[in-house]
Amino acid sequence: MLSYRHSFHAGNHADVLKHTVQSLIIEALKEKEKPFLYLDTHAGAGRYQLSGEHAERTGEYLEGIGRIWQQDDLPAELEPYMNVIRHFNRSESLRYYPGSPLIARQLLREQDSLFLTELHPSDYPLLRQEFQKDERARVERADGYQQLKSKLPPVSRRGLVLIDPPYEIKSDYQAVVSGISEGYKRFATGTYALWYPVVLRQQIKRMVHDLEATGIRKILQIELAVRPDSDQRGMTASGMIVINPPWKLEAQMNNVLPWLHSKLVPAGTGHTLINWIVPE
Ligand code: SAM
Repeated sequence: MLSYRHSFHAGNHADVLKHTVQSLIIEALKEKEKPFLYLDTHAGAGRYQLSGEHAERTGEYLEGIGRIWQQDDLPAELEPYMNVIRHFNRSESLRYYPGSPLIARQLLREQDSLFLTELHPSDYPLLRQEFQKDERARVERADGYQQLKSKLPPVSRRGLVLIDPPYEIKSDYQAVVSGISEGYKRFATGTYALWYPVVLRQQIKRMVHDLEATGIRKILQIELAVRPDSDQRGMTASGMIVINPPWKLEAQMNNVLPWLHSKLVPAGTGHTLINWIVPE
């Protein structure tokens, strides 16, 4: 079942959180000259047109990137992410939203490499097209979870693995944990960033519990809720679970998360959270 299309959701509050964390991890990896691999297991189409039918139908970006991109009191932590947004939007209006592969493409250096997988028959060709001229990148129509076994460890022994499934099938909540566990067995020093939606809190509690049971250490959770938990349909919050986060990430997110919440949720509902699921 591949009915999920990220074009309906691109640039929403969950993308803002996800891509802020992604860009801070990439910037931290760039502090050393040594190359690294950026592995994106569920890469999506790459570029999203915000004036397109899909984005306009939901209008989600208006309550996400639309609320922050022209703020003049941006915290420094948002600069790398916002520079990428500006790169794709040179005029006054917000027309395009770059997904995680394009954010990585802009931030990575010549010596770094990208490996991207996407399964959707419509999104995969769009993604491949985006990277046709980029010699650092390989794009495959393949199952993202399999790459955690076959592509790790990277030759460079440094890397960020972004795992961002749509969770349209319930088994994704278990698949992410077993995928991470497989990846970690092969590449224990890598940074893994897992995105999750809060639709039913119980599903996340179970996933976190399963992650704790793997024995992996250094697991940081970062969450932004726009509404209180609910058992009605719909996403009330989203988060990133980061294994082996760069040492500055916790402090950086402590600085930026309250600002993000205040801009993304003017009504002040919901919450923010930064919590070590498992410390060092
Ligand atoms: N990471 C992207 C970003 O931040 O811009 C968004 C990705 S979207 C949330 C999830 C994507 O995973 C969808 O495009 C979907 O087609 C794709 N997908 C679903 N199952 C997959 C699988 N097993 N392997 C690879 N891609 C998959």
